[in-house]
Amino acid sequence: MSALLETRGVWQRFGGLIANSDVSISVGRGEIVGLIGPNGAGKSTLFNLIAGVLPPTQGSIWFDGENVTHMPAAERCQRGVGRTFQVVKSFETMTVIDNVIVGALVRNTVMREARRKAHEVLEFTGLAARADVLASDLVPAEKRRLEVARALATEPKLLLLDEVLTGLTPTEAQTGVALVRKVRDAGITVLMVEHVMEIVMPLVDRAIVLDLGKVLVEGKPADVVRDPKVISAYLGD
Ligand code: ADP
Ligand code: MG
Repeated sequence: MSALLETRGVWQRFGGLIANSDVSISVGRGEIVGLIGPNGAGKSTLFNLIAGVLPPTQGSIWFDGENVTHMPAAERCQRGVGRTFQVVKSFETMTVIDNVIVGALVRNTVMREARRKAHEVLEFTGLAARADVLASDLVPAEKRRLEVARALATEPKLLLLDEVLTGLTPTEAQTGVALVRKVRDAGITVLMVEHVMEIVMPLVDRAIVLDLGKVLVEGKPADVVRDPKVISAYLGD
C-alpha cells in the first residue's frame, strides 16, 4: 500500500532564503515518525507545506493517494491532515471544551454531535476535568495537550505535532509521550517535530533529520543518533 504522506522534491524559498531544499519524505500508515533537526532547519516550514498553510515553491505533496500540493488547508483538514502549531494558537478567552468543539465542527455540523465528540476527545487526552475552565487558565503542559485535543477533534488520519513536548518537565514530557502512543494505538499516523532528540528517539519508529533545509539522514532512531553527520549538525547548533 502507498504511503499515507509523501513529499516529492519539495522546495520552499523565502526571498533569498531556502527553508526547504529538495525534501522528499514519506510517512507510512500507522507509523510514528520524528522530524528532528537544529533550530532553523526548516521543520516548521515543511509542516506548513504539508498542512497547506503555504504552497511549495517547487515539488509536490501527496496525501492518502492524492496530489494535495495546491489544495487549501481547510480541505486538507477535511481529508484528514490534523496539526498543532509550535506557537500555541488556542483561543485563550474560550473554555477548554469550546476550543475543542471548534475542532469537532470540522466534521460534525450538528452542535450536539460536535459537543459529544469534544467530550470524548477531552477524556482521551486527560483534560476532561478541565473542560469548563478558560484556556488561559491552563498550565503550559495542559495548553499543549489542548492543542493536541483540538487537532484530534478534527478526526485526522495524520496528526502533525510541532514541538508539543518541548519545554515540559520530564514528568510532563512522559505524559505527552504516553499520549502520542495512545494516539497511534487509536490508528492515527503521527509525524512529530521535536528539537530535543532525547525525548523523541525512544518514541518514534523512524527519524528524519533535517539540516539547513535538507534531509540529512533518515532511519531507525538508534542508527540516526549515532550518525556522525547528525552529531556534527547538533554540535554546530
Ligand atoms: P525550524 O522549525 O526547523 O526551526 P523553520 O521552518 O521555522 O525552522 O525556519 C527555517 C528557516 O526559514 C529559518 O531561517 C526561518 O527564519 C525561515 N523562515 C521561516 N518562515 C519564514 C517566513 N514566513 N518568511 C521568511 N523566512 C521564514
Ligand atoms: Mg519550528
